[in-house]
Amino acid sequence: MPIDTHCARYRDSLDARLDGELLPDESRDLDNHLATCASCAREYATLTDTHRLVSENLMRYAAPDVLKARIRGALSETAARATPKHIRTPWWRLAAAGVVIAMASSALTFATLGRSAGSNVTDELLASHVRSLQPGHLTDVVSTNQHNVKPWFNGRVDVSPSVPNLDSLGFPLVGGRTDYVGGRAVPVTVYARRQHMINVYAWPSGDEGDARPRESTRNGYHFVEWRSAGLEYRAVSDLNPKELDQFVAAFSSAR
Ligand SMILES: [Zn+2]
Repeated sequence: MPIDTHCARYRDSLDARLDGELLPDESRDLDNHLATCASCAREYATLTDTHRLVSENLMRYAAPDVLKARIRGALSETAARATPKHIRTPWWRLAAAGVVIAMASSALTFATLGRSAGSNVTDELLASHVRSLQPGHLTDVVSTNQHNVKPWFNGRVDVSPSVPNLDSLGFPLVGGRTDYVGGRAVPVTVYARRQHMINVYAWPSGDEGDARPRESTRNGYHFVEWRSAGLEYRAVSDLNPKELDQFVAAFSSAR
C-alpha cells in the first residue's frame, strides 16, 4: 500500500524511535504525528510488538557474539541491496525475519593421527588467528551465505576453497577474508561456535590424494590440518578440541 509522502518521513523514524535513537525534538514531532494519523499509529503499534517479541526471544536463546556476527552479516547484505542510502533496517527486524541461530550438536568424530604441523606455518597461522580476533580484522566480506563468500575469493586468491554450509550443525558462517601465510595470499573462511571463532585457511597442496585430519596445539590454540581435492586446509580456534574435531569432520565431509 503506497504511503502518503507526508507520512513517509515519519515511517522512517519509527524504527529509530524503538531503538531510542531519536533526538527529543524529532521524538516530539513524531508523537504529534502519531496522535493524528491512525495509519502511522497502527504501524508503530505493530513494530512495538515485534520489537518486544524479538527482544524477549533473543534473550532466551542468547548466543551473543555469533548472533551479532550473523546480524552484522545480514545488515551488510541488506545495506548492499538497498539502493536509497537512508533505508535503515534495525537488527531486531532482521531477527524477526528469521536471522536466528540453530545450535545443534553433532556426533561426528574421526581418528587422530598425531603428527605436528610444520612449525613456521603454525606460527604464522597462530599470529594470523590472533590478529583476526582484534576488532575489525576478522572478515573482509561479512556474510552468512556461502554463495556470497565463495565467489568473493575469485580474483583475490588463486584457490577456490570449499565453503560448506554448517548452520544445521551449529557452526554458522561469519564471512571470509584474505591473509598472508607462507608468503602467499590465502583465503580464510570464518565460522563461529558460540563465542569462539574458527578460521579455516586453504592453499594448494604439493601432495596427491586426501589426508585425514590431524590435530595439534600451540599456545593453547588448537589446530587441525587436512588435505582435500588438492588443497591443504588448516582450522585454527580456541574452541575445545572435541568440538573443533566435530567442525572439521563436518567441513571435510561436506559436499
Ligand atoms: Zn502518518
